[in-house]
Amino acid sequence: MSSCRWWAAGLAAALLVGCRIGPPPGEGVEALVGATVVDVVSGRETRNSIILIRDGRILAVGSRDELGVPTGARQTDLAGRWVVPGFIDAHAHLQPWGLAASLAHGVTTVRDLHAGEPLARELSSMARAAGGPRLVQAIAMVDAPPTTYPDAIAVDASGATAAVDRAAALGARWIKAYTRITPEVMEDVVIAARARRLPVAAHLGLTDALVAAGLGVRSIEHLSGIPEAIGMADELEAAHRLGFFQGWTAFAQSWSMLDTLALDRLARELAATGVILVPTLGLHDTFARLDDSAVYRSAALASVPDSAQANWNVPGMIARAGWTRDDFPIFRAGRPLQDRFVRTFVSDGGFVATGTDASNQLLVPGAGVHLEMELLVLAGLAPLEALRAATLHGATLLMADTLGRLQPNAVADLVVLGGDPLADIRNTRQVVRVMAAGRWIEP
Ligand SMILES: [Zn+2]
Repeated sequence: MSSCRWWAAGLAAALLVGCRIGPPPGEGVEALVGATVVDVVSGRETRNSIILIRDGRILAVGSRDELGVPTGARQTDLAGRWVVPGFIDAHAHLQPWGLAASLAHGVTTVRDLHAGEPLARELSSMARAAGGPRLVQAIAMVDAPPTTYPDAIAVDASGATAAVDRAAALGARWIKAYTRITPEVMEDVVIAARARRLPVAAHLGLTDALVAAGLGVRSIEHLSGIPEAIGMADELEAAHRLGFFQGWTAFAQSWSMLDTLALDRLARELAATGVILVPTLGLHDTFARLDDSAVYRSAALASVPDSAQANWNVPGMIARAGWTRDDFPIFRAGRPLQDRFVRTFVSDGGFVATGTDASNQLLVPGAGVHLEMELLVLAGLAPLEALRAATLHGATLLMADTLGRLQPNAVADLVVLGGDPLADIRNTRQVVRVMAAGRWIEP
């Protein structure tokens, strides 16, 4: 025996050939035993599985028949449970309380697309101290003057490089481009971001979705820019120029008037560009029902602190937006077309990622990812596709192949569920335990 690899072959044999005895192969390994593992890549479920974890990474995943528990490993019994990858919220604006709320719901990675300084820094250090969630931050959005938010970075026709440099200096890992950016400036922003190797996420207004995707924007948020890309550009441009809420209202109402065949064609064209959509159906659905008292009694709101609910001041937002009771039925009339667009985009091979837009008004961190998966299924996606939107496709969006999947060398971010998510997507809400980077999160 030329090496001591075969520790399990026996101490006596090792002593005979004079090997130094190392630690058992299972030392420092945690073995999760007996659960059904949901492989979001293949779509297969492995019953009675073993997942081996060491140093925050997955060492191996397999059935109990093909994989043993190494000597010395710590065992955790998960019989009767399901294990899925940690969820990814691809569009959030967290407040400090949202970190724990995200983790408690199995959300182990959050792409935060504008917090502003110094909140972004505070969130980052709090998340590090708590062991999660992993934050991927845009820090501060870029927007054309006069910027919608005072803490945005202003970008004009000659200042794209300076704006992107400013975001990068603050620590941004994404550039978030906002509604007032025209196609000419968007092109400069994408080029400047590419030079910094930073991807661009866009909430579009004055630039349409097809133009943005063609320029190389990596993700389009809220289904923005889609009505603008199919013949509504002039009316909507005028509204976007008036102000954020005027633009949003005209955009949300325009869906009910869109031609379905034109929508289908655009879905196919957009899917072919490779742009990833973060539709935030939870946002559209919630804001389309602000005249429905059930929205204000949602169970998810239990995890929102009273102070945060007070800060939301939903009546104040409705007043600022100028919405009346006549507006909400029009928003609702557009929802089936939004669903159709998402369904067609996915069937044409496009990737969709879950985003919550939490913690904007009534949009809840953590729970919002489960709502989004549910709404994706109601829009016509299979439960597996909805689960992929919250895991695999979120990881693709982040260009991370060590996230969003359960396979050797992946980061050990996982969620233990009490029910089968492929049988009913609502079972993702049955979160039993959450592991982030190999550490169990204590409730
Ligand atoms: Zn947002």
